[in-house]
Amino acid sequence: MSYPDTQLFIDGIWRDALDGRSLPVVDPATEEEIGRVAHAGIPDLDAALDAAARAFPGWAATGAFDRYKLMRRAADLLRERADEIAAMMTAEQGKPLAQSKMEILGGADTIDWFAEEGRRTYGQVIPARQPGVTQLTLKQPVGPVAAFTPWNFPINQVVRKLSAALAAGCSIIVKAPEETPASPAALIRCFADAGLPAGVANLVYGDPAEISSYLIPHPVIRKISFTGSTPVGKQLAAMAGLHMKKSTMELGGHAPVLVFDDADVDQAISLMSVHKFRNAGQVCVSPTRFLVQEGVADRFIDGFTEAAKAVKVGPGNDPASEMGPLANERRIPALQGMVEDAVAKGATLATGGQRIGNRGWFFEPTVLTDVPTNANIMNDEPFGPVAVINRFDTTDAAMAEANRLPFGLASYAFTRSAETGHRLAQEMRAGMLTINHLGLALPEVPFGGIADSGIGTEGGSEAIEAYLDTRFVTRMD
Ligand code: NAD
Repeated sequence: MSYPDTQLFIDGIWRDALDGRSLPVVDPATEEEIGRVAHAGIPDLDAALDAAARAFPGWAATGAFDRYKLMRRAADLLRERADEIAAMMTAEQGKPLAQSKMEILGGADTIDWFAEEGRRTYGQVIPARQPGVTQLTLKQPVGPVAAFTPWNFPINQVVRKLSAALAAGCSIIVKAPEETPASPAALIRCFADAGLPAGVANLVYGDPAEISSYLIPHPVIRKISFTGSTPVGKQLAAMAGLHMKKSTMELGGHAPVLVFDDADVDQAISLMSVHKFRNAGQVCVSPTRFLVQEGVADRFIDGFTEAAKAVKVGPGNDPASEMGPLANERRIPALQGMVEDAVAKGATLATGGQRIGNRGWFFEPTVLTDVPTNANIMNDEPFGPVAVINRFDTTDAAMAEANRLPFGLASYAFTRSAETGHRLAQEMRAGMLTINHLGLALPEVPFGGIADSGIGTEGGSEAIEAYLDTRFVTRMD
């Protein structure tokens, strides 16, 4: 596979930045520069804004059925190109090839889902108080969208925003991740090759803060969607609010996993150990705080630690690898610092805790047990291959710890008790809860957080609403 240089896509044309600037792209498994990505400046952003503004009315007026057909073609192209794009994604992001391919095929399913939802953006006819009056609500695309996406799922993070926007009839400017630019560009290319009119989807890279602070206040942009950390999300949501723009925020999490005495412990270990180390733990819904009831705690800790030790860590392009490197160098000191802080405060390091080798950003699958609440890792998102396992005695204590943090994204539980399952469904303060299996992140189910984990959902039937205005019309005949 030869890794491509990545250009900007503005007004239907692939091109370099007007001032010729570019940034290096580095393979996290080798630390070698494998390509370059164009770095947009303000004149490039102006061109993208102009293109999105000009393309919007035509795309909004295109029938929902025609938008659907075009999107389905793009999804099919993405499936056809999955192997080629997976190789690019693994080279730039580090995850094992099989995980890259799964992400791409999942992306095609997301396009299909939103293509179909676009045909169901129904308004209402509301019974009137007076004869002769007709009251209607109309759903109309909100306008050009600015979307900002991170490096952990280079395609998945873009495809949710892009597909919802296009299905609703919006044009869009995507600021995709500079660290992992080629695979999102390949996704946009599928839409271009499927016949998307020039200017409807535009793709830029550059300085994230410069781009967001230019696009969000700009009068052309009517809707913001961001995925990333909670502190950055709060800044961008504040900016959107200041300029009265709609926003969707998919932010950080610190997912609790409750394992009760009556659980199938072997199932909990096998599902959760694979899920924890997927994408080297760089996942907003990654299980982080394992809370295990006293009666099964030793068995769970032993089993999970053995499973962590058995994970095969290596370059993503080696079919034997189950976990690749971290996607960028700054995550290594961040994780090492969290592990050291926890141990200094009294935690036990059951396995891992160190960088592997000195070439490539590999980190050991790590398990910390009996971690005090004041350790940083109990409060800040680790965003890496580190599991924290603590014990609890009563359900009340487990609920209190699960709901202690301001985050509320994913949560997990294992119990055979219907009563406990019902209580968790009512009281777990999280946008998503999955009990006795892994059931998150399908296109047709809600995906989003509450409290500090964000605003809105990027899956399920409500997701497209974020790209629509509801207008009311009443008429007397
Ligand atoms: P970061 O906060 O610097 O960046 C996170 C993402 O936000 C990156 O994609 C970055 O390009 C973007 N970003 C940063 N400042 C921005 C700005 N002013 N305007 C627009 N975009 C901006 O952190 P990082 O070191 O890249 O990642 C570490 C943390 O980010 C993690 O601990 C995790 O909490 C969070 N993160 C979350 C997700 C997610 O899926 N929710 C994905 C990646 C990173």
